[in-house]
Amino acid sequence: MSENIESLLQARGIKPTAMRMLILKNMLDFSRAFSLADLEAVMETADKSTIFRTITLFHEKQLIHSIDDGSGAVKYSVCNSNCYCSIDDTHAHFYCLHCHKTFCLEKVAVPDINIPDKLIPVSINLVIKGFCENCTKFAT
Ligand SMILES: [Zn+2]
Ligand SMILES: [Zn+2]
Repeated sequence: MSENIESLLQARGIKPTAMRMLILKNMLDFSRAFSLADLEAVMETADKSTIFRTITLFHEKQLIHSIDDGSGAVKYSVCNSNCYCSIDDTHAHFYCLHCHKTFCLEKVAVPDINIPDKLIPVSINLVIKGFCENCTKFAT
């Protein structure tokens, strides 16, 4: 597992320090998208500014992608190894209105959207809101 984590970092041109490997391991342990606060909560002993700087670095190197789910806190999720965060790589996300968790819908591509010719799209944020499988009983 740690070899895998090391190679994930190297594949994105990130030097695999012990702290970066530990942070990536914690990121991969989330089965959903995580916020800075989520990561701080599971890494109580780690320095908060180090966690923040590492998230910023991972994001710049496209190891993780960010999701604005409208909750006010930016969420992140680890990219697939073949993802380069281009619009073609973008998938939809699902935000649960009850438990406030956000999930990647990796198999749901963002549909082709026709925008006026003179506009240059850089990213698309498609968030579907509703109730996740654990919260269906709250759907009305
Ligand atoms: Zn839920
Ligand atoms: Zn995602």
